[in-house]
Amino acid sequence: MKEFGLFIDGEWQAAKGGKTAPTINPATEEPWATVAVADREDVRKAVAAAKKAHDTGVWRNKSPQERGEILQRVAMAIFERQDEVAAAEVQDGGGTMRKAMSMDVPGAAQTFMHFGQFICGDEYKAMIYEEYDETVPIPSKNLVVREPIGVCAGITPWNFPLIMASWKIAPALAAGNCVVLKPASVTPVSSLMLAEICTKAGVPAGVVNVISGPGGTAGEELATHPDIGKGAFTGSTEVGRRIMQLGAGTLKKVTLELGGKSPNIILDDANLDTAALGALFGTFMHQGQICESGTRVLVHEKVHDQFVEKMLAGIKRIQIGDTMDMTTGMGPLVSSSQREAVEKYVGLGQEQGAKLVAGGKRPSSMGKGYYYEPTVFDEVDNKMRIAQEEIFGPVVSVIRYKDDDEAIRIANDSVYGLGGAVWSSNKDRAVAMAKRIETGTVWVNDYHMINLRFPFGGYKQSGVGRELGKWGLAEYHELKHIHVGEDTPPEGKFYLQLLLN
Ligand code: NDP
Repeated sequence: MKEFGLFIDGEWQAAKGGKTAPTINPATEEPWATVAVADREDVRKAVAAAKKAHDTGVWRNKSPQERGEILQRVAMAIFERQDEVAAAEVQDGGGTMRKAMSMDVPGAAQTFMHFGQFICGDEYKAMIYEEYDETVPIPSKNLVVREPIGVCAGITPWNFPLIMASWKIAPALAAGNCVVLKPASVTPVSSLMLAEICTKAGVPAGVVNVISGPGGTAGEELATHPDIGKGAFTGSTEVGRRIMQLGAGTLKKVTLELGGKSPNIILDDANLDTAALGALFGTFMHQGQICESGTRVLVHEKVHDQFVEKMLAGIKRIQIGDTMDMTTGMGPLVSSSQREAVEKYVGLGQEQGAKLVAGGKRPSSMGKGYYYEPTVFDEVDNKMRIAQEEIFGPVVSVIRYKDDDEAIRIANDSVYGLGGAVWSSNKDRAVAMAKRIETGTVWVNDYHMINLRFPFGGYKQSGVGRELGKWGLAEYHELKHIHVGEDTPPEGKFYLQLLLN
């Protein structure tokens, strides 16, 4: 069994209380590694290491070019250890090796590469330093500079542990901050490995710290610690709300990326072959455990029957099986409790009158593991709980509509607003629809195509702030205005007369 400590101040450390916990492989239901469990004191130690690193200037005083080169080295180092990191991701979280090698590892490496390259370029130079000459209210030169915040905390979920850790760490470091990251307790290993990779690639000790520990103690310590300037969280809306409340005590900047119930709208002029497979990809990729999954498929009544038929035919092409087999398309859910949550919702869907047309049970072919069949409910009413609540499993609701206005009304009838899509052979019509959907990302004729160069985040209860691109990077800076006045005798300062006779 592999063993992992906490990664604090550039080295592996045991938890102060000596506590460890096993992490379970969801495909075998067996433990495969043990990981040190941080309590509040360990978190305070990690924050102190990050604060010391920030105060000494060992990272923030490097030029963007120097930081950028190190981040690009981190990207290469992730690729060098890709087999080991991908295997950890699969064994911790239950995703497939196929996904880990083509999404998680490259996605994480590209995040470091993207931010590393961006801060070496002119656009970043222009972003962090602007100059304006003014005559009002008094002649002055005005500098607007962006500076690092200090110590940033990341709290991440179990669905994409490595990518989520990268989305928190890479932009924070790019901006010159130090980081303490707490991964989800069920999937801590790849984030711990990433901390070691960063350090070996040249990120100074103390700049990146990763500690695994329970959300209720280690997470809350981070969310309240006075030396944390910013918290970035991805996870459930409920915990996001709590983190915002906790952060209010010290008025931290908080960005939240939360749940979703995203609409995937099929217009009557869509290419149905592609859209039907796109709808499967949009829902069943990673067993549906993706926040922006298109879990409500809204289909025009004219093409509804044909579309559902194509979806059901497509499902037969999804292979459930051994996560390490590169032909497997769907692995198990992350935990038995997550599968139970899915089963509860499938029961609710049936009780409320939705028509179960595929799945709805554990696959008989898999003796072990938290597997669940890809499940389709047809004739769903948007008021049903399966259409309103985030299930976070392989369950999709197909909802009929009769015209564009009704599709938009249904799409926006949700407390969430994270992702969504419109499928149509008329791009102008699709973009016009996209503009009317209350959501942070809309794909036209695609799904799940998150792009590191562009902002990602939610409207409504799906989040606060944005990650990725220059917009996400901006969230990791403080903004400062420096007014440089003229060096004149007192007569040159008109405002003195407001006080002095
Ligand atoms: P949570 O929101 O509970 O967990 C996400 C992260 O927050 C974990 O690191 C967790 O730690 C931590 N955390 C939990 N409670 C606190 C707290 N009080 N203070 C600070 N940190 C805390 O997600 P779950 O894993 O429980 O999943 C529940 C549901 O959330 C899912 O069914 C799904 O609907 C949604 N979800 C959404 C995700 C998204 O990407 N938007 C991702 C994952 C889940 P620990 O692991 O130790 O509990």
